[in-house]
Amino acid sequence: MSSDDLLVSCRGVALAFGRGPTAVVAVHGADLDVRSGDRLAVVGPSGSGKSSLLHLLAFLERPTGGTIVRPGLDGSRDVGLVFQADSLIPALDVTENTALPLVLAGCPEEETRGLVAEALDVVGVAGLADRLPDEISGGQAQRVAVARVLAQAPRLILADEPTGRLDHATGARVLDALLAAADRTGAALVVTTHDPAVAARLTTHRIMRDGRLLPPDTENPPDHQDVPTAPKELP
Ligand code: ADP
Ligand code: MG
Repeated sequence: MSSDDLLVSCRGVALAFGRGPTAVVAVHGADLDVRSGDRLAVVGPSGSGKSSLLHLLAFLERPTGGTIVRPGLDGSRDVGLVFQADSLIPALDVTENTALPLVLAGCPEEETRGLVAEALDVVGVAGLADRLPDEISGGQAQRVAVARVLAQAPRLILADEPTGRLDHATGARVLDALLAAADRTGAALVVTTHDPAVAARLTTHRIMRDGRLLPPDTENPPDHQDVPTAPKELP
């Protein structure tokens, strides 16, 4: 696969929750292309629509307007997700959590075992293989979530505020692991964040404000950096 393969393309994509006067438009007419090898930060304050946009890219939501095409994504293993926290299943140990997407995709047991062991090693949590999620720290759990996408080897990794609940040093280690996972697998990486220090670790940046994905190279408006935006009404 060449480095400029188009994985997903959004044109005028919108997502509204509800209808009529109480509807909330979470995403207004977003235009975005994601290609193999991209390292994209989607930056905006809480409530600006970052998670909604990521859910559209992940097929977790269907757009209520516009079009999304995914010429470079087909199999069930092609999209990997890392959420802000609590992405591990409490009843499964670290190894089982990491193996889950492979098991669901029908990957042979022997191959799964090897991929999981390697992924846990790359993100530095191999020593925790038999622990349950409530026996490890938040930063370790996020690295396990990264190991899970690394083992899955998707073409597109979507991480929604993956460092949002971590201190800076721990968050930096999780980002290191995410970037290492994307580099190893050749995946595109899209990270949402409201933290400029996180965004600075990625190559390209797109700003979200009030549900609008601003054009590339827009200056980050300095106001309201961490202030939640009010719900928006349909015109
Ligand atoms: P961010 O991730 O940037 O904090 P979100 O995408 O979560 O923003 O939310 C964008 C807007 O959509 C907010 O106004 C939020 O309240 C609203 N929203 C998100 N999910 C839902 C939902 N399931 N139902 C109704 N409104 C929602
Ligand atoms: Mg969010």
